[in-house]
Amino acid sequence: MKILVANLGSTSLKWRLFDFANSAERLLHKGGFERVTDYSKAIGDCLAQLKESGAIASESELAAVGFKTVIAKDVTGCVRLDERVLGAMEAYNGLAPAHNPPYIAGIRLFAKRIPGVPLVALFETAFYQFAPEAMMRYAVPAAWHEIGVRRWGFHGASHKFIAERSAALLGREDIAHRAQNLYVDGGKSPANGAPLRVISCHLGGSSSITGTLNGVAIGNSLGMSPQSGLPHNNRVGDLDAEALPYAVKTLGITIEEAQRQLSKEGGLKGLSGVSNDIRDIHEAATKGDAKAALALDVFVSEARRWIGGYFLQLNGADALVFTAGIGENRAELRAAICANLDQLGIVLDPEKNAALRATEGVISADSSRVKVLVIPTNEELVVARETKRLLEASRN
Ligand code: AMP
Repeated sequence: MKILVANLGSTSLKWRLFDFANSAERLLHKGGFERVTDYSKAIGDCLAQLKESGAIASESELAAVGFKTVIAKDVTGCVRLDERVLGAMEAYNGLAPAHNPPYIAGIRLFAKRIPGVPLVALFETAFYQFAPEAMMRYAVPAAWHEIGVRRWGFHGASHKFIAERSAALLGREDIAHRAQNLYVDGGKSPANGAPLRVISCHLGGSSSITGTLNGVAIGNSLGMSPQSGLPHNNRVGDLDAEALPYAVKTLGITIEEAQRQLSKEGGLKGLSGVSNDIRDIHEAATKGDAKAALALDVFVSEARRWIGGYFLQLNGADALVFTAGIGENRAELRAAICANLDQLGIVLDPEKNAALRATEGVISADSSRVKVLVIPTNEELVVARETKRLLEASRN
């Protein structure tokens, strides 16, 4: 069974093609285009590359196309895409303005181009469906809650992958199985040993931290929209609700302009005044740029705030996992986040940490009670697996 996973940005199209023949999972092809101006052409070129490479003989060989969609009103989980679901995504365009509109437009173009191929969405909010309600509520009036003002949580595909993979690496196949089957049985598969507590740090252009207990998320640092939690590349992250009306009045700007500034000129870019990319910020900080150094310090401090919160909620942790662009590649930030935590049982091995880049491994010292791991994430594989499961369930 061949499943294409398409990652749609406002000016980019990236894809991975998986083959699930004979119960194996094989990556057959991956590719992408940046600076896309004609999306319809980009989709045509993607399909042409799949055929030219021999990965598929024709489009009809695709069992489905899976999409890592972000958020929709009253819809989550893994679902077949139709006009109802697209309408539900449209209803929340305002919560994910950088993500929902390109996904909706791209999905419609895929539907036009390959009408016979099922299109499937795995929402980024899906992983938090089973989190305790107290971890997902804002203390807003009831009417606000009823219109959807609550924490939803995002990066679900990535944190689910980490939940599965970390459990397997820690020798807990029962929990790996539980995490894998989460959307089938709502986390009801048995857990056979001591509770497995994992704190998963997805640190990249967009960052979030999640705590998982026995493979099931208990919360996520991202809240109602991806504009929350840790500072992101250009997005502010958590901000006091009064800051927005205050800035609008004091700076004499419109609410739309304030939103634009918070999402395009905030975050690491706003703090550093240098760049939204950690590589540039780190270089500037090493040369003595105080604002760049502060940006890194804020990022580290906010990461520790969320790790600390989940550490308490979980009554400690068996593993702390780093993933995504920063988590997988930036040893100095991993070291700063884990610094001075020996009393909590978190001790890095500096040499292992420095040596590990974009590969899987343990970076904690042997004496560390909490295992610190680096696990490259594989969000597309999670989307492909869930898509396959949905197709199989709808056939039975
Ligand atoms: P992501 O959104 O997961 O691609 O992560 C983007 C962030 O990770 C940027 O701030 C990059 O500086 C950092 N990053 C990504 N890849 C690398 C790499 N190979 N080496 C160093 N930093 C990286």
